[in-house]
Amino acid sequence: MTQTTLKPGVVTGKDYETLVTACKNGGYALPAVNVTSSSTANAVMEAAAKAGSDVILQLSNGGAQFYAGQGMADGDQAKILGAVSCARHIHLVAEQYGICVVVHTDHANKKLIPWIDALLDWSEKRFKRLGKPLFSSHMLDLSEDPMEFNMSESARMLKRMSKMGMSLEIELGVTGGEEDGIGGEFDDTADNSHLYTQPEDVLEAYNKLASIGHFSVAASFGNVHGVYKPGNVKLRPEILKNSQALVSKTSGGNNPLNLVFHGGSGSEKAQISEAVSYGVFKMNIDTDTQFAYSEKVGNFVDENPKAFKYQIDPENGTPYKKFYDPRKWIREAEKGIIERLQEAFDDLGSKGKSLAK
Ligand SMILES: [Zn+2]
Repeated sequence: MTQTTLKPGVVTGKDYETLVTACKNGGYALPAVNVTSSSTANAVMEAAAKAGSDVILQLSNGGAQFYAGQGMADGDQAKILGAVSCARHIHLVAEQYGICVVVHTDHANKKLIPWIDALLDWSEKRFKRLGKPLFSSHMLDLSEDPMEFNMSESARMLKRMSKMGMSLEIELGVTGGEEDGIGGEFDDTADNSHLYTQPEDVLEAYNKLASIGHFSVAASFGNVHGVYKPGNVKLRPEILKNSQALVSKTSGGNNPLNLVFHGGSGSEKAQISEAVSYGVFKMNIDTDTQFAYSEKVGNFVDENPKAFKYQIDPENGTPYKKFYDPRKWIREAEKGIIERLQEAFDDLGSKGKSLAK
């Protein structure tokens, strides 16, 4: 078996497709971690380097806005400029981590279509100059709109993107829970049957989009955003298997679809493995890495309470600069992400499998 290799750094176009195919053929997946700052972005790349795994970094619209600055008067501009700024940061430094990095955006619903179109304007400018877009892939989540609109808009977007070798992630069926105000309702006491994707819809999407460009599908199989009490979420990974089998009948091949698992936080390990075996190459994780980042700060403040109240100890004159210097406690937070992601790389089977050479 020949081992495919890629140059370290951000991968787009054919390199991105190579990476996705390697994941599916190798029976492993990559974590897609939401980042909101250079600190979280760097921590995710460092975590991947430590694990010898490739990785996906993604921005939600809210994360992008935060990256540009929560105080920026024009919030819509902040969402655009923050995403561009973070993507440029990743392009600049990723190679130094020695792994392959995918740059992605997270859920964009109907009202965020202009956000993605604006990001494509930026990618088109960059593509003209450097032959590489800013993002490897965007997500368009029109799962709450009629299927017809979801398909026509996805096709329009993918036509624009495929010219630059960009991939599109679509959503079919509604992922429960909310993320930046996007996502389906999730009531953990109710019957959540609307949270399951219909394989027939997946086949329709494949027939409409496969000839236009590279795309992936966030299929809903009972997964929810966020972490809930155990037992209330009924994952049904066989929905993924059935979707692959249905599409395979017309297209041939094993696991023809590129599947994405949303709401990876708090999921059972056996069901993660099962989902990966059905062609999931990307598992989104946000809530668990948010907690890992914050938990370390909480511990650090608990251990050094005076350093967060006084610059100099009022009783014994000890200076606390080396504790309240933000680099000190933000670094602790980064270590939290780095540790938590080692577990994710293990769960997804991607440790030591980086294609970067
Ligand atoms: Zn999601």
